[in-house]
Amino acid sequence: MISNNTDNSQNTNTFAYNIRLDRAKGSILGLAVGDALGSTVEFTTPEQIKARYGLSGQTEMRGGGAFNWPVGHYTDDSQMMLCLLESLVSTGREGRAGLDVDDLGRRFVAWYCSGPPDMGITTRLALARLKAGTPAALSGDANPDSQANGAVMRCAPVAVLWHRPEYRPELVRDSLLSAAPTHRSVIAVEACVVANIMIAELIEGASFDTALERAKARTGPEWRAELENWDRAGRPHRGNTGWALSTVLTALHCVDTTSSFEEAVIKAVNGGHDADTVGAVTGEIAGALYGLSAIPGRWLEVLQDREKFIELATGLFQIGENLSGAGE
Ligand SMILES: [Mg+2]
Repeated sequence: MISNNTDNSQNTNTFAYNIRLDRAKGSILGLAVGDALGSTVEFTTPEQIKARYGLSGQTEMRGGGAFNWPVGHYTDDSQMMLCLLESLVSTGREGRAGLDVDDLGRRFVAWYCSGPPDMGITTRLALARLKAGTPAALSGDANPDSQANGAVMRCAPVAVLWHRPEYRPELVRDSLLSAAPTHRSVIAVEACVVANIMIAELIEGASFDTALERAKARTGPEWRAELENWDRAGRPHRGNTGWALSTVLTALHCVDTTSSFEEAVIKAVNGGHDADTVGAVTGEIAGALYGLSAIPGRWLEVLQDREKFIELATGLFQIGENLSGAGE
């Protein structure tokens, strides 16, 4: 990784507003772009991807995939992220910034009832409990072995709201709460803390390594040990599985070993298997590092709901700025 080696995070009050806004939008749009790009090759192997698209692999918005998506359409990852994004913008505009988990739960149930074509098993079971009356803060699976990646794939809006450094406790609180309607195991929910600390620190101008150290410092002992082991092992690719741990570590690997948003996300989705979600998590982190302006135009041009995401991301970033009195 060659970009953003300068650590600007000590200078957050002066680090340019428009650069931070570009990075906040980059995280939201990056998530949706990575998801849409990966949807084409979900449930395939890297070898099958090369056989189908050549040695450079899957690099374009093609649609198709297991659920025959139209070109540029995103999947459940970004559909659920949109629920969280709209919920946080809504509470922020009502003057009560922060996550209202019951409001988020109502949006998830409406989405669940709309009959989306793909939905993770953990999420499906949890949303059935939520719909049947379990409170949103308790409907996620608390079994420690329930470690799927269905919460970390949608978490970025929390970091966009609480991007300012003085709001790290709120960021951690709402990252955990944003997972609760569907996931409650330590590994699954703290994956959201790790990803969101990375995103917020990158928006504020931290280097990748500084952001990683701060993520380690803010998460619990299980994730801290996993991040330290991964670091000591040379930050390897951990495979594109549906598990939160390997998804986050592979996403970090893809960002760390490339030098642009485009390269990071292409590397992520070409691991196949859970390609849309590894693409989404890589995209939310790489987007915060490089900004919306670095996302290839050929991908953005066809992205479903592009303008809606830009408008909502801008609104949520501004709510966070106004809270801290650090607006433009
Ligand atoms: Mg998906």
